Amino acid sequence: MAEEKMEVMLTAKQIEGRIKELAEEISEDYRGRKILVIGVLKGAVIFLSDLVRHLTIPVEIDFIAVSSYGADTNSSGVVRILKDLEQSITDKDVLIVEDIIDTGLTLTYLYENLLRRGPKSLKVVTLLDKPDRRQVSFNPDYCGFKIPDRFVIGYGLDFDEDYRHLADLRVLEP
Ligand code: 5GP
Repeated sequence: MAEEKMEVMLTAKQIEGRIKELAEEISEDYRGRKILVIGVLKGAVIFLSDLVRHLTIPVEIDFIAVSSYGADTNSSGVVRILKDLEQSITDKDVLIVEDIIDTGLTLTYLYENLLRRGPKSLKVVTLLDKPDRRQVSFNPDYCGFKIPDRFVIGYGLDFDEDYRHLADLRVLEP
């Protein structure tokens, strides 16, 4: 389907405004500290790059990749690390940056995995949260928008690797 025909759920401007607010809150909470921001590839790349540019504290950046659903829009529940971090997170203030929390399975796995590596602190920021679809309870420390149970694409989120580059967040009808 042509992208301009897909319903817009959040405009680029709405997203930008909310990211500035999140960055202010995060900068305030970590004032006087340096954080290691961990982006979950690939969906969080665009969110991360916009978020860090509004932070007013020192930041290091690393990335981790976990298995995604591929062309299937339903969660398989199986999570694997496809690409690990390049550095140790022991004794660091770590902030995981995720695009969307759906069933909660991915972040529950990732959070527990990273916690075992001994960070000084470990928090999560997600741009989007679909609380209706939770299979395991997981509450992010910071959330951009709570959204209804619809499959969204754009602003970093894909369907089978397409649409990540779209500036607005749009709904992909089944
Ligand atoms: P969870 O493990 O919480 O079910 O899923 C998290 C991952 O599922 C996200 O990082 C994302 O890759 C994918 N996902 C969940 N909902 C959506 C959606 O509405 N759109 C897209 N593009 N990906 C989604």
